[in-house]
Amino acid sequence: MKKYIIGNWKMNLNVHESSLFVTKLSQTLPVRRNVETVICPGFLSLEPVSLQINHRQMKLGAQDCYWRDEGAFTGEVSASQLRGLAQYVLVGHSERRYIFDEDDRDVRFKVQAAIRNGIRPVLCVGEDEEEREMNCYEHALCDQVASGLMNIDSGDLDQIVVAYEPIWAIGSSAPAVDQQITESVKIVRTQIEHMFGRAAAMNVPILYGGSVNAGSAKQILQLTGVDGLLVGRSSLIATEFAGMVNDAAAIVKESQRA
Ligand code: PEP
Repeated sequence: MKKYIIGNWKMNLNVHESSLFVTKLSQTLPVRRNVETVICPGFLSLEPVSLQINHRQMKLGAQDCYWRDEGAFTGEVSASQLRGLAQYVLVGHSERRYIFDEDDRDVRFKVQAAIRNGIRPVLCVGEDEEEREMNCYEHALCDQVASGLMNIDSGDLDQIVVAYEPIWAIGSSAPAVDQQITESVKIVRTQIEHMFGRAAAMNVPILYGGSVNAGSAKQILQLTGVDGLLVGRSSLIATEFAGMVNDAAAIVKESQRA
């Protein structure tokens, strides 16, 4: 399976800065057929960046979408408005869940809206610090996956990407440790398996996100069950992000040789 490297720029870079950054990234980023490289700029930068990039080098993702297609929802951007512009959309990122009070129902509807509009949702799930400390992360993860994918037809499962992002690791000083990542990714995949069967579950890319940088990317990409990375801060450093794409390409190549 190919690897995914997705950069979440969060609320950084205005339109002009995005354009400058993409120019730099384009010069640094390798074109790798075995790696799906995706950048997620802010909404305003999506269209100008779309006109600027080589779409074989990188794809575009939005950081969120609203689940209604149109109507009186001031300030929102729907998946139908993103259609043709973004190929991916982050859904249920913990910053949306915790800062903007998105609940499981919003997340579920957004996943459906993305699919309905031909955009691949990247469903973000992850336990908070208390759930980790109290040892209830398995329950939290299963709930979020079950709820997020509840109304998805099995025929659409190949459009889904899941990102395991422990909330306590996002924006912190270090990623989760290897054993925590492999165990949690397995929990996520097993839940998908319960819902859609083993063969389908094996084909869903499951990414890790949370304080990955150039130094930790390679090791995490090699962990069992990890199909890629969702990267925040380090995706805004062109050389770091490009390095992760190179690491991912080398790991896929190695696994094909084995
Ligand atoms: C994120 O925003 O999804 C993320 C993983 O951020 P960071 O890499 O900065 O922890």
